[in-house]
Amino acid sequence: MSLILRASVLALAAVAFAPGAAAPQPSRPAAPTGALADYHVHVKGALTLDEALRRSREAGITYGIVINGGLTFPVHDDSGLEAFLREAKGKAAFVAFQAEGREWVRLFTRATLEKFDYVFTDAMTWSDDGGRRMRLWIPSDVGPIADPETFMDMLVARAAGIFASEPIDLYVNSTYLPDQLAADYDRLWTPERMKRIVDGLAASGIGMEINNRYRIPSAAFVRIAKQSGVKFACGTNNAGADDLGRNEYCAQVIRECGLGPGDFWTPPAEGRKAVQRKPLAGR
Ligand SMILES: [Zn+2]
Repeated sequence: MSLILRASVLALAAVAFAPGAAAPQPSRPAAPTGALADYHVHVKGALTLDEALRRSREAGITYGIVINGGLTFPVHDDSGLEAFLREAKGKAAFVAFQAEGREWVRLFTRATLEKFDYVFTDAMTWSDDGGRRMRLWIPSDVGPIADPETFMDMLVARAAGIFASEPIDLYVNSTYLPDQLAADYDRLWTPERMKRIVDGLAASGIGMEINNRYRIPSAAFVRIAKQSGVKFACGTNNAGADDLGRNEYCAQVIRECGLGPGDFWTPPAEGRKAVQRKPLAGR
């Protein structure tokens, strides 16, 4: 490569990094903002890693390839995570860990977790005040919700507890409600509840996912989060190959809420990952 060509390639690489983006590292792709990144892509069903990388190139959208792990999951210890890292690291994608359930902080070690570019979780698995462990997307776990207001207060309290105590970089499937409450999303997410969520995220430096599959959070929620200084990330949480699109909902919210590059989360720099800044509970 000639010196001039090399210089122009370096200049191009420089502008590919948005202001505030994590420093470039040899084993990581550039960290685009807005709808140019989907930080929540699962390799499952017909979507192999190679196929995901091909679709990322074709769409011009950088992916974060994610492995789930937690209690009762196939991956529930460091060895499962290490196997995934061996397969996925060093490719043209970020590599992320999705922590499932609240037990994860006792199942994995920092030494393995910090090999991921970032770690995230949602507030979809927790135990209610009666000790009933629920996965909110499974109706039989949740059962009939007799009092939606009490349920919402519990959900907000659990989410705030997660943000304060778990070392996560990003909150995903943000603001998800069980099916039986989803139609009342705008009424149940009162300004006070929204404020408690976004203040908890801001206080712990946790980004908020704008999720394409569930089409959440609402634009109203995103506006309140933006006012509190929360940074956003587009993500899909695809169930397979057919529901991985091109950040359509995220792009819509970006337009509606006037989000700019400075409003976006990017994967943390080495040394600044949540698992490097905050202790794992019980360790
Ligand atoms: Zn997921």
